[in-house]
Amino acid sequence: MIFIRRLPQFDYVAPRTLWEASSVLAERKSEAVLMAGGTDLLPKMKKREATPRYLVSLKNVPGLAYIKEDKGALKIGPMATIHDVESSPVIAGKYAILRDTSLVFASAQIRNLATVTGNLCNAAPSADMASPLIALGATLSLSGPQGGRTIPLEKFFTGPFTNSLGEGELVAEIQAPQPQPHTGGVYIKHSIRNAMDHAIVGVAVVLTLDGSDVCKDVRIALGACAPTPVRAAEAEKALKGNKLTKAAIDKAAKAAVSAAQPRSDPEYKREMVQVLTARALNQAWQIAR
Ligand SMILES: Cc1cc2nc3c(=O)[nH]c(=O)nc-3n(C[C@H](O)[C@H](O)[C@H](O)COP(=O)(O)OP(=O)(O)OC[C@H]3O[C@@H](n4cnc5c(N)ncnc54)[C@H](O)[C@@H]3O)c2cc1C
Repeated sequence: MIFIRRLPQFDYVAPRTLWEASSVLAERKSEAVLMAGGTDLLPKMKKREATPRYLVSLKNVPGLAYIKEDKGALKIGPMATIHDVESSPVIAGKYAILRDTSLVFASAQIRNLATVTGNLCNAAPSADMASPLIALGATLSLSGPQGGRTIPLEKFFTGPFTNSLGEGELVAEIQAPQPQPHTGGVYIKHSIRNAMDHAIVGVAVVLTLDGSDVCKDVRIALGACAPTPVRAAEAEKALKGNKLTKAAIDKAAKAAVSAAQPRSDPEYKREMVQVLTARALNQAWQIAR
Protein backbone atom coordinates (compact mmCIF):
# COMPACT_ATOMS: atom_id res chain seq x y z
CA MET A 1 0.00 0.00 0.00
CA ILE A 2 1.33 3.49 -0.88
CA PHE A 3 0.72 6.36 1.53
CA ILE A 4 0.76 9.78 -0.15
CA ARG A 5 1.83 12.35 2.41
CA ARG A 6 2.86 15.35 0.32
CA LEU A 7 0.40 18.07 -0.54
CA PRO A 8 -0.67 18.20 -4.18
CA GLN A 9 0.42 21.28 -6.12
CA PHE A 10 -1.71 24.40 -5.71
CA ASP A 11 -1.49 28.17 -5.98
CA TYR A 12 -1.65 29.96 -2.64
CA VAL A 13 -3.92 32.99 -2.74
CA ALA A 14 -3.72 35.45 0.17
CA PRO A 15 -6.47 38.08 -0.10
CA ARG A 16 -6.48 41.09 2.25
CA THR A 17 -10.25 41.35 2.68
CA LEU A 18 -13.22 38.98 2.98
CA TRP A 19 -14.72 40.57 -0.12
CA GLU A 20 -11.55 39.73 -2.11
CA ALA A 21 -11.62 36.16 -0.77
CA SER A 22 -15.24 35.79 -1.79
CA SER A 23 -14.49 37.23 -5.27
CA VAL A 24 -11.68 34.69 -5.87
CA LEU A 25 -13.98 31.86 -4.77
CA ALA A 26 -16.74 33.07 -7.07
CA GLU A 27 -14.36 33.53 -10.02
CA ARG A 28 -12.47 30.23 -9.64
CA LYS A 29 -15.58 28.21 -8.66
CA SER A 30 -14.80 24.56 -7.83
CA GLU A 31 -11.07 25.12 -8.50
CA ALA A 32 -10.73 27.24 -5.35
CA VAL A 33 -11.15 26.32 -1.68
CA LEU A 34 -11.08 28.60 1.35
CA MET A 35 -8.67 27.78 4.16
CA ALA A 36 -8.83 28.96 7.78
CA GLY A 37 -6.65 26.85 10.14
CA GLY A 38 -6.22 24.03 7.61
CA THR A 39 -6.66 21.22 10.17
CA ASP A 40 -9.44 19.58 8.15
CA LEU A 41 -8.45 20.76 4.70
CA LEU A 42 -4.71 19.96 4.61
CA PRO A 43 -5.10 16.31 5.76
CA LYS A 44 -7.81 15.92 3.09
CA MET A 45 -5.44 17.33 0.49
CA LYS A 46 -2.67 14.98 1.58
CA LYS A 47 -5.09 12.09 1.11
CA ARG A 48 -6.14 13.55 -2.29
CA GLU A 49 -9.74 13.82 -1.07
CA ALA A 50 -9.45 17.52 -2.00
CA THR A 51 -7.21 18.77 -4.80
CA PRO A 52 -7.95 22.49 -5.19
CA ARG A 53 -6.03 24.43 -7.82
CA TYR A 54 -6.25 27.56 -5.63
CA LEU A 55 -6.01 27.62 -1.85
CA VAL A 56 -7.56 30.87 -0.65
CA SER A 57 -6.21 31.55 2.84
CA LEU A 58 -7.86 33.93 5.29
CA LYS A 59 -4.64 34.27 7.31
CA ASN A 60 -3.69 37.66 5.83
CA VAL A 61 -7.10 39.25 6.31
CA PRO A 62 -6.66 41.39 9.44
CA GLY A 63 -9.07 41.47 12.38
CA LEU A 64 -10.96 38.20 11.90
CA ALA A 65 -9.99 36.39 15.12
CA TYR A 66 -12.29 38.30 17.46
CA ILE A 67 -14.67 37.05 20.14
CA LYS A 68 -16.80 39.81 21.61
CA GLU A 69 -20.22 40.75 22.92
CA ASP A 70 -22.04 43.44 21.03
CA LYS A 71 -25.69 44.60 21.22
CA GLY A 72 -26.66 41.71 23.50
CA ALA A 73 -25.14 39.00 21.31
CA LEU A 74 -21.97 36.94 21.17
CA LYS A 75 -19.98 37.49 17.98
CA ILE A 76 -17.22 35.15 16.80
CA GLY A 77 -15.01 36.10 13.87
CA PRO A 78 -14.14 33.57 11.14
CA MET A 79 -10.51 33.18 12.27
CA ALA A 80 -11.21 32.79 16.02
CA THR A 81 -9.66 29.49 17.07
CA ILE A 82 -10.76 26.87 19.56
CA HIS A 83 -7.92 28.12 21.78
CA ASP A 84 -9.34 31.66 21.56
CA VAL A 85 -12.66 30.25 22.83
CA GLU A 86 -10.86 28.43 25.64
CA SER A 87 -9.10 31.59 26.82
CA SER A 88 -11.79 34.23 26.14
CA PRO A 89 -13.17 36.07 29.22
CA VAL A 90 -16.36 36.80 27.24
CA ILE A 91 -16.94 33.07 26.69
CA ALA A 92 -16.01 32.08 30.26
CA GLY A 93 -19.03 33.93 31.67
CA LYS A 94 -22.40 33.49 29.96
CA TYR A 95 -21.22 31.16 27.23
CA ALA A 96 -19.28 28.70 29.40
CA ILE A 97 -20.78 25.78 27.43
CA LEU A 98 -18.44 26.80 24.58
CA ARG A 99 -15.41 26.93 26.88
CA ASP A 100 -16.27 23.45 28.21
CA THR A 101 -16.55 22.26 24.61
CA SER A 102 -13.16 23.73 23.69
CA LEU A 103 -11.60 21.72 26.52
CA VAL A 104 -12.77 18.41 25.03
CA PHE A 105 -11.71 19.39 21.50
CA ALA A 106 -8.58 17.76 20.02
CA SER A 107 -5.10 18.53 21.37
CA ALA A 108 -3.58 21.89 22.34
CA GLN A 109 -1.69 21.97 19.02
CA ILE A 110 -4.88 21.51 16.97
CA ARG A 111 -6.83 23.95 19.15
CA ASN A 112 -4.25 26.65 18.35
CA LEU A 113 -4.97 26.35 14.62
CA ALA A 114 -8.53 25.05 14.28
CA THR A 115 -11.20 27.72 13.94
CA VAL A 116 -14.79 27.51 15.19
CA THR A 117 -16.01 28.55 11.75
CA GLY A 118 -13.92 25.88 10.01
CA ASN A 119 -15.38 23.29 12.36
CA LEU A 120 -18.91 24.32 11.30
CA CYS A 121 -18.10 24.64 7.58
CA ASN A 122 -16.44 21.24 7.43
CA ALA A 123 -19.89 20.00 8.54
CA ALA A 124 -18.84 16.71 10.13
CA PRO A 125 -21.87 15.18 11.88
CA SER A 126 -19.63 14.94 14.97
CA ALA A 127 -18.32 18.55 14.84
CA ASP A 128 -17.96 19.45 18.51
CA MET A 129 -18.80 23.15 18.18
CA ALA A 130 -22.01 22.56 16.21
CA SER A 131 -24.36 21.16 18.87
CA PRO A 132 -23.53 23.68 21.64
CA LEU A 133 -23.88 26.58 19.20
CA ILE A 134 -27.22 25.21 17.94
CA ALA A 135 -28.34 24.88 21.57
CA LEU A 136 -27.36 28.52 22.12
CA GLY A 137 -29.53 29.52 19.14
CA ALA A 138 -26.60 30.64 16.95
CA THR A 139 -26.95 32.12 13.49
CA LEU A 140 -24.35 32.59 10.75
CA SER A 141 -23.74 35.75 8.75
CA LEU A 142 -22.78 34.72 5.25
CA SER A 143 -21.28 37.00 2.66
CA GLY A 144 -20.89 36.39 -1.05
CA PRO A 145 -21.03 37.94 -4.50
CA GLN A 146 -24.81 38.45 -4.20
CA GLY A 147 -24.45 40.27 -0.84
CA GLY A 148 -25.06 39.05 2.70
CA ARG A 149 -27.63 36.80 4.36
CA THR A 150 -28.20 35.26 7.78
CA ILE A 151 -29.05 31.63 8.42
CA PRO A 152 -29.85 29.76 11.65
CA LEU A 153 -26.99 27.35 12.30
CA GLU A 154 -29.34 24.35 12.51
CA LYS A 155 -30.38 25.01 8.88
CA PHE A 156 -26.78 25.40 7.66
CA PHE A 157 -25.98 21.68 7.50
CA THR A 158 -27.34 19.79 4.49
CA GLY A 159 -25.73 16.37 4.99
CA PRO A 160 -22.52 14.75 6.15
CA PHE A 161 -19.69 17.17 5.22
CA THR A 162 -21.98 19.41 3.16
CA ASN A 163 -23.41 22.82 3.96
CA SER A 164 -25.66 25.40 2.38
CA LEU A 165 -22.94 27.84 1.25
CA GLY A 166 -23.47 28.99 -2.32
CA GLU A 167 -20.75 29.69 -4.90
CA GLY A 168 -18.35 32.34 -3.61
CA GLU A 169 -20.12 32.48 -0.24
CA LEU A 170 -18.25 32.38 3.05
CA VAL A 171 -19.08 32.62 6.74
CA ALA A 172 -18.31 36.16 7.88
CA GLU A 173 -19.47 35.82 11.51
CA ILE A 174 -21.10 33.51 14.05
CA GLN A 175 -23.65 35.14 16.35
CA ALA A 176 -25.49 33.85 19.39
CA PRO A 177 -28.04 35.68 21.55
CA GLN A 178 -27.06 36.40 25.12
CA PRO A 179 -28.61 33.73 27.38
CA GLN A 180 -31.38 34.86 29.74
CA PRO A 181 -30.85 34.85 33.53
CA HIS A 182 -31.15 31.41 35.20
CA THR A 183 -29.69 29.62 32.18
CA GLY A 184 -27.40 26.62 32.31
CA GLY A 185 -25.54 25.08 29.38
CA VAL A 186 -23.86 21.68 29.17
CA TYR A 187 -22.09 19.75 26.39
CA ILE A 188 -21.28 16.09 26.92
CA LYS A 189 -18.95 14.45 24.41
CA HIS A 190 -18.91 10.68 24.48
CA SER A 191 -15.75 9.38 22.82
CA ILE A 192 -13.16 6.68 23.30
CA ARG A 193 -10.12 8.85 24.10
CA ASN A 194 -11.88 12.05 25.21
CA ALA A 195 -10.60 15.09 23.31
CA MET A 196 -8.33 13.19 20.93
CA ASP A 197 -11.27 11.40 19.31
CA HIS A 198 -14.31 12.50 17.41
CA ALA A 199 -17.55 12.24 19.36
CA ILE A 200 -19.41 8.94 19.18
CA VAL A 201 -22.39 10.88 20.49
CA GLY A 202 -22.48 14.53 21.59
CA VAL A 203 -25.35 16.12 23.52
CA ALA A 204 -25.71 19.86 24.15
CA VAL A 205 -28.39 21.38 26.40
CA VAL A 206 -29.13 25.04 27.09
CA LEU A 207 -31.90 25.31 29.66
CA THR A 208 -33.55 28.39 31.21
CA LEU A 209 -35.58 28.31 34.43
CA ASP A 210 -38.31 30.83 35.25
CA GLY A 211 -36.72 31.63 38.64
CA SER A 212 -38.23 28.51 40.21
CA ASP A 213 -37.87 24.96 38.91
CA VAL A 214 -40.16 25.49 35.93
CA CYS A 215 -38.46 25.12 32.54
CA LYS A 216 -39.01 28.41 30.71
CA ASP A 217 -37.02 27.40 27.66
CA VAL A 218 -34.75 24.58 26.55
CA ARG A 219 -32.79 23.74 23.43
CA ILE A 220 -31.27 20.30 22.99
CA ALA A 221 -28.92 19.44 20.10
CA LEU A 222 -27.40 16.07 19.24
CA GLY A 223 -24.16 15.43 17.38
CA ALA A 224 -22.83 12.32 15.60
CA CYS A 225 -26.12 10.45 15.60
CA ALA A 226 -27.70 11.69 12.33
CA PRO A 227 -26.35 12.88 8.96
CA THR A 228 -26.15 16.40 10.45
CA PRO A 229 -26.25 17.82 13.98
CA VAL A 230 -29.97 17.91 14.96
CA ARG A 231 -32.38 19.47 17.48
CA ALA A 232 -34.23 17.06 19.75
CA ALA A 233 -37.57 18.83 19.31
CA GLU A 234 -39.77 16.20 21.00
CA ALA A 235 -37.61 16.29 24.11
CA GLU A 236 -37.73 20.08 24.21
CA LYS A 237 -41.53 20.00 23.87
CA ALA A 238 -41.81 17.56 26.77
CA LEU A 239 -40.02 19.99 29.11
CA LYS A 240 -41.02 23.52 28.07
CA GLY A 241 -43.40 25.15 30.56
CA ASN A 242 -43.25 22.17 32.92
CA LYS A 243 -41.74 21.71 36.36
CA LEU A 244 -38.41 19.93 36.25
CA THR A 245 -38.36 16.65 38.13
CA LYS A 246 -36.31 13.51 37.69
CA ALA A 247 -39.32 11.84 36.06
CA ALA A 248 -39.84 14.77 33.64
CA ILE A 249 -36.16 14.66 32.64
CA ASP A 250 -36.22 10.89 32.13
CA LYS A 251 -39.31 11.27 29.91
CA ALA A 252 -37.66 14.00 27.85
CA ALA A 253 -34.45 11.99 27.49
CA LYS A 254 -36.49 9.08 26.13
CA ALA A 255 -38.16 11.46 23.66
CA ALA A 256 -34.74 12.73 22.48
CA VAL A 257 -34.07 9.32 20.94
CA SER A 258 -36.63 10.03 18.18
CA ALA A 259 -34.29 12.72 16.76
CA ALA A 260 -31.41 10.27 16.33
CA GLN A 261 -31.00 8.49 12.98
CA PRO A 262 -27.63 6.82 13.48
CA ARG A 263 -26.12 4.94 10.54
CA SER A 264 -23.65 2.96 12.61
CA ASP A 265 -24.24 1.20 15.95
CA PRO A 266 -27.87 2.39 16.03
CA GLU A 267 -28.92 0.55 19.18
CA TYR A 268 -25.88 1.69 21.14
CA LYS A 269 -26.07 5.28 19.95
CA ARG A 270 -29.79 5.54 20.73
CA GLU A 271 -29.16 4.28 24.23
CA MET A 272 -26.31 6.78 24.66
CA VAL A 273 -28.54 9.63 23.46
CA GLN A 274 -31.06 8.78 26.19
CA VAL A 275 -28.44 8.40 28.94
CA LEU A 276 -26.44 11.50 28.00
CA THR A 277 -29.49 13.71 27.42
CA ALA A 278 -30.73 12.89 30.94
CA ARG A 279 -27.24 13.61 32.33
CA ALA A 280 -26.87 16.89 30.43
CA LEU A 281 -30.38 18.06 31.46
CA ASN A 282 -29.69 17.29 35.13
CA GLN A 283 -26.39 19.18 35.01
CA ALA A 284 -27.86 22.16 33.15
CA TRP A 285 -30.72 22.30 35.70
CA GLN A 286 -28.21 22.54 38.58
CA ILE A 287 -26.23 25.29 36.81
CA ALA A 288 -29.39 27.27 35.99
CA ARG A 289 -30.62 27.29 39.63
C1 LIG B 1 -5.72 15.45 15.10
C2 LIG B 1 -7.06 16.11 14.89
C3 LIG B 1 -7.98 16.10 15.93
C4 LIG B 1 -9.23 16.68 15.77
N1 LIG B 1 -10.11 16.63 16.81
C5 LIG B 1 -11.33 17.19 16.67
C6 LIG B 1 -12.27 17.16 17.74
O1 LIG B 1 -11.98 16.69 18.86
N2 LIG B 1 -13.51 17.68 17.53
C7 LIG B 1 -13.87 18.22 16.33
O2 LIG B 1 -15.01 18.66 16.19
N3 LIG B 1 -13.00 18.29 15.28
C8 LIG B 1 -11.75 17.80 15.43
N4 LIG B 1 -10.85 17.85 14.38
C9 LIG B 1 -11.27 18.48 13.11
C10 LIG B 1 -10.78 19.95 12.90
O3 LIG B 1 -9.70 20.30 13.70
C11 LIG B 1 -11.92 20.95 13.09
O4 LIG B 1 -13.03 20.65 12.31
C12 LIG B 1 -11.46 22.42 12.87
O5 LIG B 1 -12.23 23.22 13.72
C13 LIG B 1 -11.57 22.94 11.45
O6 LIG B 1 -11.17 24.30 11.44
P1 LIG B 1 -10.01 24.84 10.50
O7 LIG B 1 -9.87 26.29 10.78
O8 LIG B 1 -8.78 24.03 10.63
O9 LIG B 1 -10.69 24.58 9.09
P2 LIG B 1 -10.04 24.36 7.66
O10 LIG B 1 -9.40 23.02 7.59
O11 LIG B 1 -9.22 25.52 7.26
O12 LIG B 1 -11.38 24.35 6.80
C14 LIG B 1 -12.37 23.36 6.97
C15 LIG B 1 -13.48 23.60 5.95
O13 LIG B 1 -14.18 24.78 6.26
C16 LIG B 1 -14.14 25.69 5.17
N5 LIG B 1 -14.05 27.03 5.76
C17 LIG B 1 -13.21 27.44 6.72
N6 LIG B 1 -13.50 28.71 7.06
C18 LIG B 1 -14.55 29.11 6.30
C19 LIG B 1 -15.32 30.32 6.20
N7 LIG B 1 -15.07 31.41 6.94
N8 LIG B 1 -16.33 30.34 5.30
C20 LIG B 1 -16.61 29.27 4.53
N9 LIG B 1 -15.93 28.10 4.59
C21 LIG B 1 -14.91 28.03 5.47
C22 LIG B 1 -12.93 25.29 4.35
O14 LIG B 1 -13.07 25.67 2.99
C23 LIG B 1 -12.94 23.79 4.53
O15 LIG B 1 -13.86 23.20 3.64
C24 LIG B 1 -9.58 17.30 14.53
C25 LIG B 1 -8.64 17.32 13.48
C26 LIG B 1 -7.40 16.76 13.65
C27 LIG B 1 -6.41 16.81 12.52
